[in-house]
Amino acid sequence: MKAIDIIEKKSRNEKLEYKEIQYIVNSYVKGKINDKTMSDFVWLVYNNGLSMDETYYLTDVMIKSGEVVDLSGIEKPAVDKHSTGGVGDKVTLIVSPIVAAAGLCVPKMSGRGLGHTGGTADKLESIPGYKLNLDKKKFIEALDKVGCAVISQSEKMAIADKKIYALRNEIGAVDSIPLIASSIMSKKIASGSDIIVIYLKVGKGVFMKNIKDATKLAKTMVEIGKYYGKVVICTLSDMNCPLGRNIGNALEVLEAMDFFAGKYDKRLYELCVYISALMISSGKRISFRKAKAIVKGLLDNGYAKTKFYQWIKYQGGNVTKFAIKAKKLVVVANETGYVNSIDAARIAKLAFDLGAGRVKKTDKIDYSVGVVLNKQLGERVTKGEALGVIYYNKKVEDMDNILRDSFTINKKKKQVKKIIIKTIK
Ligand code: URA
Repeated sequence: MKAIDIIEKKSRNEKLEYKEIQYIVNSYVKGKINDKTMSDFVWLVYNNGLSMDETYYLTDVMIKSGEVVDLSGIEKPAVDKHSTGGVGDKVTLIVSPIVAAAGLCVPKMSGRGLGHTGGTADKLESIPGYKLNLDKKKFIEALDKVGCAVISQSEKMAIADKKIYALRNEIGAVDSIPLIASSIMSKKIASGSDIIVIYLKVGKGVFMKNIKDATKLAKTMVEIGKYYGKVVICTLSDMNCPLGRNIGNALEVLEAMDFFAGKYDKRLYELCVYISALMISSGKRISFRKAKAIVKGLLDNGYAKTKFYQWIKYQGGNVTKFAIKAKKLVVVANETGYVNSIDAARIAKLAFDLGAGRVKKTDKIDYSVGVVLNKQLGERVTKGEALGVIYYNKKVEDMDNILRDSFTINKKKKQVKKIIIKTIK
């Protein structure tokens, strides 16, 4: 078999067989074909798409390129969650202990984030002492005793996806539905859970810009899940404005702590309750309505909060030493009216420029910097009132105006869109 023949076949838009996809992917992993050849293949897939069968083949080959986690030692049902990036996304920090408090197990393997802020792993590392690198035995022990654990994703899992995803990022070929679906699902299936709840962000701050494409991606991931006998549930949620109030690694941990103390942003609360209830209803095989009542109960009686601190302590985190070490700049409104939009992409870029994110895995992150939004969608603001606070250690040119201009303030209030768009099973 030759890579060039496979590429030519794909360029004629003929369907590829399992062994052809296996050949090209494995040859790339082993260094037998170079980046240029693989880019040619990726671009053809990007432009011509993949059939559902070809998408299964690609997913399967990527799963088999690395380790597959065996969770059979855990008695409780394992429910994983995944989110496709977003600005101010601290949902894992909130949902994992809620679902664990309901008696299920949430085994999360989280990668280091590239982009405007770190990933969940980086956010957790802003807590002094938190250990991401539990070995398999300790991971299982944490899941048994606490019910949730977040560790760093093994470098040995879905190795082909790592290499191809990095290449796609480099050549600008990320937003292809079959490539995204197979990339996400290869990692989720290799992570071992039988139930996977994915929430896909749609909007300005993320790669799925419209509901039509996001629906197609969701359906593709649900189909891949079925192929492996997994329950995959995808929720589309609105991401035209940042999620919650805090954007930045430690700032997002702080918002999770505030959440459990009963101080929460309404849309963040709605999303976290919804995702937790989806996970609990499928894990316990109960109705969504019953699951939602359980979630609210666990938040009201403080058990979810207890679980959150138990989890952080179990993984070595010392919350008494947790601190935000940055200067603050309060940014005030220049006009009176209602906040009708907040540009998530602009705020993400500001957080990145402040030092909250990274381009390469080896770049250092400043955990303490970021942005806190004093005003959210639909809220009234008067001239001179604080819109937000910038936490910084090095100034970004014009940062106050960047934050101020991210807000659209009008005299007339616009209806605030619901955060949950739809769910596909
Ligand atoms: N996240 C992934 O893991 N892969 C993609 O292709 C896109 C987002």
